[in-house]
Amino acid sequence: MLNIDLHCHSSISDGVLTPEQLVERAAQRGVEILALTDHDDIAGLVEARKAAEAKSITFINGVEISVSWRGRTLHIVGLDIDPDYAPLVEGLTAVRAGRAQRARNIAAELEKIGIQGSLEGAYTYVGVRSLIGRTHFARFLVEQGYAKDVKSVFKKYLVKGKPGYTPHEWAPLSDALSWIRGSGGHAVIAHPGRYGLGKNVLSDLLDEFCALGGSALEVVTSSHTPEQMQLFAQHANNRNLLASCGSDFHGPGESYFDLGQLPEFPLGCTPVWQQWKNTVNAELID
Ligand code: AMP
Ligand code: MN
Ligand code: MN
Ligand code: MN
Repeated sequence: MLNIDLHCHSSISDGVLTPEQLVERAAQRGVEILALTDHDDIAGLVEARKAAEAKSITFINGVEISVSWRGRTLHIVGLDIDPDYAPLVEGLTAVRAGRAQRARNIAAELEKIGIQGSLEGAYTYVGVRSLIGRTHFARFLVEQGYAKDVKSVFKKYLVKGKPGYTPHEWAPLSDALSWIRGSGGHAVIAHPGRYGLGKNVLSDLLDEFCALGGSALEVVTSSHTPEQMQLFAQHANNRNLLASCGSDFHGPGESYFDLGQLPEFPLGCTPVWQQWKNTVNAELID
């Protein structure tokens, strides 16, 4: 079984390691095909690809786009994208543009419950300023002793219904799909089990995703229980969608799966990399 990881983050977005360090760690853990999928940014791809080539890892250009759909936030991973495709580059710039104001809003909400200085604090954890996000706030809040780890901070402060949450409008689903597909890439619904969608809403989402030319569901991910992996494998098969897998690694100790430490697909999945005969060394995937 190949060691493939198609979802992870560097310090360009909310990961802890630089793209080069991330690839270094992937190599140590035996990853053979790696996609870097930073949130709303592709600035790490050149460095990561260079490092991957030095380690003989097959590198896939990726991104994880923040999307608003029916009042919810979804994440759409783009794999094998062309980072020079202008609509994608411009689209991502527009998505990032909203983050600075959102960060000010989050800080204002936290201030209302007596937490001072979180904006400046969060920025000390940021790699690229335009990519400021909730994880950077979470790391600051852990540092300040508001919770024991990043996961607990989210639960207590940063998710819907909690004091530090503010709504935000991300890219429309159709835009994200058109940027990814227009650049020659494949669109994947990231961690579909994480959105808490009821049966009918999930069915609507899959209808829409398929109609827009989506390719795959992320079946194996840190966010899914074994039951969810089975469930989304079935959904993928029923819809003729491919299956993807990724650790969603953000840093040592912050994700349930480390780089390249993923369980195998449930039976019957067709892996998304079957489509990459042109990109990936054919010997690797046959
Ligand atoms: P943002 O794009 O700024 O809303 O941040 C989203 C990121 O926050 C995700 O990609 C995760 O890295 C992190 N995140 C979201 N929910 C949780 C959670 N419950 N526990 C830990 N990290 C989370
Ligand atoms: Mn993240
Ligand atoms: Mn995500
Ligand atoms: Mn992710």
